[in-house]
Order: sequence, then C-alpha cells, then structure tokens
Amino acid sequence: MTKIRIGNGYDMHRLVSDRPLILGGIEIEHELGLLGHSDADVLTHAIMDAMLGALSLGDIGHYFPPTDPTWKGADSVALLMQVDRLIQAEGWTIGNIDSVVVAERPKLKPHISAMRDRLSTALKLQPNQVGIKATTNEKLDATGREEGISAYAVVLLVA
Ligand code: MG
Repeated sequence: MTKIRIGNGYDMHRLVSDRPLILGGIEIEHELGLLGHSDADVLTHAIMDAMLGALSLGDIGHYFPPTDPTWKGADSVALLMQVDRLIQAEGWTIGNIDSVVVAERPKLKPHISAMRDRLSTALKLQPNQVGIKATTNEKLDATGREEGISAYAVVLLVA
C-alpha cells in the first residue's frame, strides 16, 4: 500500500532596492529584490519547508541557519536539492507540489513556466508535478504595499 504524507510551507521576504529578484530559481527583471541571508528565493523556501514539514523534520532554518556564513548568498535551488536528498534518504519521493506566490509586482505569469522547469529539473520531476500560481494581494497589507513577497506551498510525499 502506498504511504503518503503532506506538508505545507510559508515564507515571506522584504523587498529592497539593491538586490536581485529571484523566484523559483529564476532571476526576474525588477527594480526591487528580496532581502535575505541566502538569495531570499521565497518560493523555493516555502517548498523546502513543505517537504521537511511532511516528514516532521523541522524547518529550513534548522538545516541552513541564517547565522551560518556558509549559506550567505546561497542559491536556494542548491538547498532544495539537499532537502530532496534528505527526504529520499528517508525513503520518500515527491508526488506533487502546489504553490502560490503573492506579489503585487512584477507580473509573474510570463516567468512561471521557467520556474517550473528549473524546480522540476532540480527535483527530477515532470513540470506537471510542480504547480506554481501567482496572485496579487489587491494592494492590501504589506504584500499589497510592495513591502515584501510571500509564498505558500503544499507538498505530497509518497513512499
Ligand atoms: Mg526564507
């Protein structure tokens, strides 16, 4: 009988003027970027937390602490691949991922297919196993004021 586990993840990073904007492993042209110790890829972080959460393995702060200089400027997709190895070592594989990025600007729709390609390749999945959606916050709250970008993810693991 197939065993299944589900996990969810959430992350938010602040938008600042002197950083590149990286989402789903793709650099997106924008006048603001996300602030963080790593590349601050909020979508990839939410997915990693969902993967870890599915197995009650804690969160990414435990594995890649922001106090550790090793992870300064880190490519979050490389961290994602490490988390993937961790869940595989526990005997699990990803059934599918679904996620949503909440950003007032820029328009993310033109970049979603590239994000799915980058993340599915890194995780050795088919692109149709990696759902990425984008929405705005209708100008409400911090995200709507373009103070930050947030992301939510759920991951189904199968064994
Ligand atoms: Mg983060």
